[in-house]
Amino acid sequence: MPETTESESRKLLRRLRDTMAEEAAGQARLDKITHLIADSMGTEVCSVYLFRDEETLELCATEGLNPEAVHETRMRLGEGLVGRVARTGKIVNSADAPKEKGFRYMPETGEEIYSSFLGIPVQRLGEKLGVLVVQSKEARQFSSDEVYALEVVAMVLAEMTELGAFVGEGAALKARHQQPVMFRGTTGQEGAAQGHVWLHEPRVVITNPVAEDPHKELTRLHEAVDHLRVRVDQMLEGAATGDKEQMEVLEAYRMFANSKGWMRRMEEDIARGLSAEAAVEKEQSAARARMSQVSDPYLRGRLHDLDDLSNRLLRILTGQGNETGAEMPPDPILIARNIGPAELLDYGRSLKGIVLEEGSVGSHAAIVARALAIPLVIHAERITTEALNGDHIMVDGDQGIVHLRPDETVVSAFRDKIAMQAQALERYASIRDKPATTLDGKTIGLHMNAGLMADLPSLDGSGAEGVGLFRTELQFLVRNQMPKRHELAALYSRVLDAAHGKRVVFRTLDIGSDKVLPYMKPNDEPNPALGWRAIRVGLDKPGVLRMQLQALLRAAAGRPLTVMFPFVAQYEEFTAARAEMDKALAREKILGHVIPQKIEVGAMLETPSLAFAPDKFFEMVDFLSIGGNDLKQFFFAADRENERVRRRYDTLNVSFLTFLEQIVARCEASNTALSFCGEDAGRPIEAACLAAIGIPTLSMRPASIGPVKNVLRRTNLDELRAVIHGARDRGEMSVRPAVMEFLRNGA
Ligand code: PEP
Ligand code: MG
Repeated sequence: MPETTESESRKLLRRLRDTMAEEAAGQARLDKITHLIADSMGTEVCSVYLFRDEETLELCATEGLNPEAVHETRMRLGEGLVGRVARTGKIVNSADAPKEKGFRYMPETGEEIYSSFLGIPVQRLGEKLGVLVVQSKEARQFSSDEVYALEVVAMVLAEMTELGAFVGEGAALKARHQQPVMFRGTTGQEGAAQGHVWLHEPRVVITNPVAEDPHKELTRLHEAVDHLRVRVDQMLEGAATGDKEQMEVLEAYRMFANSKGWMRRMEEDIARGLSAEAAVEKEQSAARARMSQVSDPYLRGRLHDLDDLSNRLLRILTGQGNETGAEMPPDPILIARNIGPAELLDYGRSLKGIVLEEGSVGSHAAIVARALAIPLVIHAERITTEALNGDHIMVDGDQGIVHLRPDETVVSAFRDKIAMQAQALERYASIRDKPATTLDGKTIGLHMNAGLMADLPSLDGSGAEGVGLFRTELQFLVRNQMPKRHELAALYSRVLDAAHGKRVVFRTLDIGSDKVLPYMKPNDEPNPALGWRAIRVGLDKPGVLRMQLQALLRAAAGRPLTVMFPFVAQYEEFTAARAEMDKALAREKILGHVIPQKIEVGAMLETPSLAFAPDKFFEMVDFLSIGGNDLKQFFFAADRENERVRRRYDTLNVSFLTFLEQIVARCEASNTALSFCGEDAGRPIEAACLAAIGIPTLSMRPASIGPVKNVLRRTNLDELRAVIHGARDRGEMSVRPAVMEFLRNGA
C-alpha cells in the first residue's frame, strides 16, 4: 500500500469537501465519505461509529463491513477497540488488532478477517462525537503520516457534519446540541430565571475547513498570528501595573503566541489541506482534550490560556468579533467562562440570569450580580461548550442548578417554581410599607446593602428603611484607575440624593483579601484574608482614606453623614481612624465647606478580638455593625471563599450564637446601637434567630427584605429565643432543627 503523502491527504480532503457539498441525503453522504476514505487510504474498510447516547456507539456507515450491520451494531463506551477509542479519546493503531487488550469483534460485521486497525476519535473542541475507523487485512502498523491524515479527516468530519442526522431512521439520538443537559454548579445569587442563552464570547463559526491554496492559507495564518502578537504585547503594556495573576496569564499568552511548536503544528495542518482557521481549531481541540485529562490546576490554567488564545486567533481570521451581528434574545441569560464586574455592569439589568464556568461566590462579578439581584450560578463546568446562542435555559440560583434545553417535565416543574416566586413577590409587595413588627410586638429595623448607584432604586422598591452598608470599594473595583476625589464626592452626593433623607452607612474602602484593585500593586501575601486589608491599609497609607473621608464630607454638604470603618481588630485602630475623620472635618471647616449637621462614626465587628475590647471602646463608637461573613470565618477559622470548609459550620451553631449574644449584651450594657450586615441577615431563618437573640437591626441585599419581613411578622421572638435556649440547654450543636420545627408549626 502506498504511503499517504501530503498531497494525497490534500486530495482526500478536497474529495471530502466535494462530497459534503453534494446534495445527497445524510446517510448516502456518509456512505460516500466512508467509501472515499477507504479508497484514498488504500484500506478495505472504513467505518464511522457515532454516539447514540452518552454510553452507546452505533455503526452508522461502513465501506467494507457487512452493510446489514449498519444501525444494528452497537457497543458500550469502553467496549472493544472502538469503545476504547471513544472512552479515552486516544488513537488506537494496531497491526494485530485481535491481540490488543480489550479486542472484541462484532460477528455480524464480518470484521474478524481484518488484522490492522486504526481508530481515531471524532471530536469537536473536546466534545466526543464518535470514532472513525479504517481496517485492512494486511498486518501492518499505519504510518504517522496516515494517522495524521485520518485525524485531519476526522476533524473535518466533525466540523462539517451534523452527525446526529446520520444516525438511522427513528434513532433516539438527536444532534448533541439539541439534547437537554443539566449542570450542577454552586449558588452565586439565589433566585430562579428562565430565558435564552446569550454567550458572552460566542463560538466562532468555521465555514471553510478545507482550503484550495495552502500558500494563501499560510500567509493568512502568519498575518493573523502577527496581529495577535502585537495585540498581546499591547495588553501586556496596558497591564504593566496590573495584578500578578493577570500578568501571569498575559505572559503565558505571549509564550504561546511565540511558540514554535504551536506554529509548526498549524503550518503542517495547512500543508495537509486544512484552512487556516481549521488548523487553529484543530490545535484548540487538542488543547481541550489535554485539558480534560490534566488535574494539575496550574497546567489546566495554561491550557485554558491556549484555548483563549486560539479563540482570539479565530476571531482575527474569521473577522467575527464578540459582535456577531446576532440579536440578543428575549430574556437573555448570560453564559461565560468568567466575567469582570465592569463587563457585567455593561449588561446591567437587561440580564435575567448569569451562569459562569468559573468564578467564586466572593468574586467581584458575584458581588455585582448580587447587587443587581440577578440569579447567578458559578462552576457550571463545560457550559460554554454545550450552550448555543438562543438555547432555552433555566437557572435555579437557589440550588446552583442549570437546565439547558430542558425537557417538558423540567419546564413545568420550573414554571411552578417561578410562579411560586412571583406569588411570594406579590406577598412581599403587599407588606412592603408595613413595619417588620413581630407577633410579640418588637419592631426590627430592616436596611439594605448596596454598593452601586444602580442599587439605590431598590431602596423604595424593597421597603428598606435605609442603606445599612454601602460597600464603597465596588466603585473602586469597577474602574481601571483610582477615582478622583471630586468624582467620589459627586457619586456619594448622588447616593444621598437618591436616598431622600434615609440613612446611608458608608463603609470606607475595604480592599485587600479577595478584593484587589486592578491599578494597585498587588501584595504577595501568604494569607490575604488575614493580611493587609481594609482599615489596616487605610491607616498605613492614609492618602486614600483621607481622600475618601473628604469626598464623603463634601457629598454630605450639610446633610447628616454616617461612616463606618471595616475590619477593626483592636480599638486603637478605631481611634486612629476616627482621628482621621476629625482631621478631615477640621480641614473642611478651615476651607469653608459646609460640614454635616450630624456625623455618626461606627465600626464593623468582623474579628472576634473586637468583641472583647474594653468597655471604653463600646462607649466610644456611635454604632457597631457585625460583619457576619468575616466574623464567622474567623470564629470557625474557615475560609469564607472555600465552600468545602465554609459549609461545615452553621451560623445557627450554638457556639456562634452564644458569641453573638455576648456582643448583644455588651452593646446593651453600653447603650451602643448594633446591627448585623453579613449575608446571613438576608436569610429568613437566620435573620429571625439574630432578631431573637436581640440584634435590633439587620442589613441585607434588597431582594431579601420581603422574605425576611414576612417571617419576622409571623414570629414571636420571645418564644423563638426560648426555643434557641432550649436547644442549647439540651446540648445540641446547632439550633437549626429546633428552630425549623418551631417556625414550621408557627407559620
Ligand atoms: C462581612 O464581612 O460580613 C461584610 C458585610 O463585609 P464584606 O462581605 O464586604 O467583607
Ligand atoms: Mg467583611
